Formats: sequence, structure tokens, C-alpha cells
Amino acid sequence: MQKIVLMKILLVTPPLTQLNTPYPATCQLLGFLSTQGIKAEQMDLSIELIERLFTCTQLESIFQEVSLNDKLSKVNRIILQNSDFYIHTIEPVMRFLSGRDISLAQRFSDLSFWPQSKRLPSEEDLEWAFGMIGNYDRAIHLCTLFLKDLSEFIQQTIDHHFELIRYAESLCLRLPEYKPLQVELQKPYSLIDKLMIDIFEKRIRKSNPDMVGFTIPFPGNLYSALRCAQWLKKEFPEIKICIGGGYVNTELRSLSDPAIFETIDYILYDDGELPLVRLLTGGELIRTMYLSETGEIIRSNFDSIENISFSEIGTSVYDGLLSNQYINLIELTNPMHALWSNGRWNKMMLAHGCYWGKCTFCDGSLDYIHRYETTSIEKIVNNMESIMEQTGQSGFHFIDEAAPPALLRKLAEEILKRRLTVSYWTNVRFEKSFTSELCYLMAQSGCIAISGGLEVASPRILKLINKGITIETARESMKNFANAKIMTHAYLMYGFPTETAQETINSLEVVRDLFAEGYIQSAFWHRYAMTIHSPSGQQPESVGAKSIKQETGHFANNEIPFSTEHEIDLEFYGKGLNLATYNYMQGAGYDLPVNEWFQNHKKKK
Ligand code: SF4
Repeated sequence: MQKIVLMKILLVTPPLTQLNTPYPATCQLLGFLSTQGIKAEQMDLSIELIERLFTCTQLESIFQEVSLNDKLSKVNRIILQNSDFYIHTIEPVMRFLSGRDISLAQRFSDLSFWPQSKRLPSEEDLEWAFGMIGNYDRAIHLCTLFLKDLSEFIQQTIDHHFELIRYAESLCLRLPEYKPLQVELQKPYSLIDKLMIDIFEKRIRKSNPDMVGFTIPFPGNLYSALRCAQWLKKEFPEIKICIGGGYVNTELRSLSDPAIFETIDYILYDDGELPLVRLLTGGELIRTMYLSETGEIIRSNFDSIENISFSEIGTSVYDGLLSNQYINLIELTNPMHALWSNGRWNKMMLAHGCYWGKCTFCDGSLDYIHRYETTSIEKIVNNMESIMEQTGQSGFHFIDEAAPPALLRKLAEEILKRRLTVSYWTNVRFEKSFTSELCYLMAQSGCIAISGGLEVASPRILKLINKGITIETARESMKNFANAKIMTHAYLMYGFPTETAQETINSLEVVRDLFAEGYIQSAFWHRYAMTIHSPSGQQPESVGAKSIKQETGHFANNEIPFSTEHEIDLEFYGKGLNLATYNYMQGAGYDLPVNEWFQNHKKKK
């Protein structure tokens, strides 16, 4: 292949992802590339699209178009009747949610301000959640529901791919073959596509890059990345295009359909720093897939484990993102839950990979889990200070898979030594090292919340999962966090191979007690999925399962169908678990015997 030396790359976060703070991938890459003397810029097309969509002018044209539709549902007819309200309120709502006009909190927190909607809570529920003076958060909650109503309206009448924080996700969630996406990409632009391409085009003309790199962290970013790439190939065929990111790393490793290379030039795998530098400077390509001139897929140094070490990655750079108006959203009133969508958290990693790396359901064979590396605590806290200076924000979300307790101790000590006033939250493994003394130290240094996997709260299944914790050690560490006033979110799982109905119910009982004792404040149940990169996917029999053979897809491959003894009705149990936990998060339903959540699924609160 002819080697090329490129001068400039534009890194893009395609729509749609979180709207409250920049997605960290492009900031990290930009920080690294700038240390290599490579010209790079970044854009968050996701928030730019939302800023453009939720304006008075856009809503006017949307309502005009929808008014020609005589087959609207009752709910959408009501929204259309209130179009004047939506058109005149949208810009003040966006100003308020982005913090540019917080004086609107008083008006927006008043329930009677808002038009009729199935999402509107009762005054009683609002007072329960926010008290009498929590007007600011209460207003954010009501504005979020307003945007959710509008988004659903747009989805049902204008563009079925549109959701507030994801785009065309249902199309891309399971995509063993490329064809359905390829067909979708041949359709005329939707209104959302047009807006997105318009913003993207302006940026391309202004930045004039030699290459564009799209990060695709989730299925809900894939379609939009390829839509932009398709436009770029047609209008600026000389600009090269590469993609990478979490979705690519987990789903597209065994890709064998060359059709995607009609739209893009390169796919880069795992940490992007080294593959990008090689691509941009004409070095030997690494973990890169491309098409040869004869139309054959080339996997260049695909299994190489060569990487830029974690300590050399450098500080994230936010240039080009700070003028975006990120918006705060609170959909659920649970305070722990709100952290994900509310607040401009600086995202950063304390370490690369997971120090444990052995859980049988986790992608342990992939680099982002199994390569554990860290750096000196001085460097970590220097990075924090540099990021605070850039963004003006002192809140950090450490996005580690599982932050090591020893490192958290050093972090807390260093923050206290430098007398920094910060707040932070992160993921942990609920292990015995989280003593009351460590939790207190963390709280003193600014730790406000943690999340961690309790998975299936059953002694037998926890052993099969190989989490290396017991219910007792998990409970003890949660208690220590609670006593230190650190909020806790538990990730839970159901449907693990061989898990019986009784074990599922018992697991809920453990969770209920943790809520009732005040040891956790929030939780979410995920249905177990066997993935090809996990120990359970690589050896299903080791967890009591049999994989059901199926043909490998030519595009995305990740989940493996399997059979196991004690198959239970996962939909039925999933509904009961979620309903019970929804109530526990609101402080209700503790007295109800856990069995009853599985007898009828009516809201009990
Ligand atoms: S589930 Fe968490 S603790 Fe277990 S290996 Fe994965 S990242 Fe590590």
C-alpha cells in the first residue's frame, strides 16, 4: 500500500451520545496527537446537532410538516395543538438547561407552567423527590420531560431513528450483516440527517482536514458516522476517513464484508493513539483494517499488542468543545442516577484496564480490560489540575472499569495534600479493601459516589462469575461507603447460565435489604449477554452453558446465543426485578415480600 503522510485530522463524536458533558475519546486523542506535533481538531457533532435542532425555527418547520399528517396519534395531536407553547419555550429551556439562564428555575419548577403530558409527575411526587426548595433540580427534571416529549414526537412523526441521546440505535444494535444499514444509507436524508450534514459540511469547509476520524462508542453512533462519511466521500473524495471506538472494538473485529469500505477507508482497533499516529505519519499500520487495491480486506498487524503506555498518553485537551452548550438532564429523580446526565463532569481514567480482569461475563480478552497499567499519582493529579484549568469545572468522573482501592487511597491523599476542592465518582469492585477508613478518606477528598457490580447476589452464581467477592464483603464495603456519605449504585445481573428462578428472587431480596439499610441508593438490572470476548463466551461449558452454533455474521459479532439448564422466563423476571428496584430507589416497597413483585407487574408505589 502506498504510504501517505497526512497533515491534519478532524476528530468527530457523531450523534448521538450524552449531552451534559463532552464524550472523552476525542479529547484524549487530541491531547496525545498534539504531543506528537500532529495537527488535530475535534468537534462534538452530537451536542451541535441538538443545539441546532431544539430552536424556535426548527420546531416551527417540524410542526408545519407534521400538521400535514392526518394520521397522528392522540398524544401527538395534543402536542401539535400546543405547538405554540413548544416553539416559544424551547429556547428558554435550552438556555436554562445549559446554565446560561438559571433565573428561569422558579418558573420552570412550577407544574402548572407545562402543558398536559403523560410524563408529567404529580405535585406530590415532585415534593417527595425535591422537597419544597429544590427548585433548580425540579426545574431541570421538568425541562427534561419536556425534551423527552418533544423527542418522542419527532421520532414518531419525522424521523423514527431519533432519540434524545442515541440515533438509529435499534437499527444498529444487532447487525450481523451490513445490508440493513447499507439499505438505510441509500434512503433520502431525513430532517435530522440534513441538519447533521449541514453542520458537518460547514466544519469540513472551515477546518479543511486531510483525514476525518469518527469515534463510535455505541451502536447509537454508527449510522450517523457512516452518514457523514458517505457525504464526505461524495463531496470531498480526497479526504481519508477512519473509524474506531468501543463499538468497533467489541463488534467489528471479525468483519469480513468489504462493503463498509465504500464509505470509509480505515478501521482502527483498541486504543487509537498508536494506530492513528502510524496512519497519519505514514508508519507501519497497526491494528488497522482497510481494503487493498484488489478489493481484499487487509488486517495490518491485527494482533499486535504494541501500545503507547498509559503513562505517556498525556492530558486530555478540550479545545474546540468548550463553546458548546452542554445541557443538564434529570430524567429519574434518584440523585445517584442523575449523575450520569446532569453536570459537566470531566472524564478521565486513573488506570488503563481492570486490575482484577477475571469476571467470566466481562470482555477480559480485549485490551481495554486485560491491559492493566497505571501511572504516578502526581501525574494523575497534575492532569486533573490541567483539565480543571481548561474547563473551569472541578467535578471528575473517573471512567475506569474498576478503580483499584490502593490507587484511590493515593489519589485521596494527593488531593488532600494539594488542598484541592474537587468532587469525583467512579466504578469500583466491592471488595474488602474498602474499609471504613479508606471510604472516609475518599469522602474527605471529594468522592461523592461510586458504582460497582454486585451482579447476581447469590453465593453460588457469584463464584461462577468469578468476581472475587462475596455478598458479605460487598455488603461491608457498601456499608462503609454509606457511613462515609458516599452514594452507591449497584450493577446487577439476571439470567446468568444455570441461575434458577429462586436464585433470582433471593438476589432481589439481598438487594432490597441493601436499599432498606441505606447501603445503596440506586441499582440497575442488566440481562446477562454471553459475548465472544468473555471467558464465558470462549468456554460456555465452564459456566454450565452450551453455545448454540450459528453462522458468524459478516459484519458485527458480539453476542452468542446459548442454552442452559433452568431456563427461566427472562422477560417476566426482568420486569419484576426492575419494578421492585424502581420502587426501592424511591424508598417504597420494602415491606412487600419479594415474591410478590413477580406475581403482578402493577406499579406498587
Ligand atoms: S466486570 Fe469489572 S471487575 Fe470484573 S473484570 Fe470486568 S471490569 Fe474488572
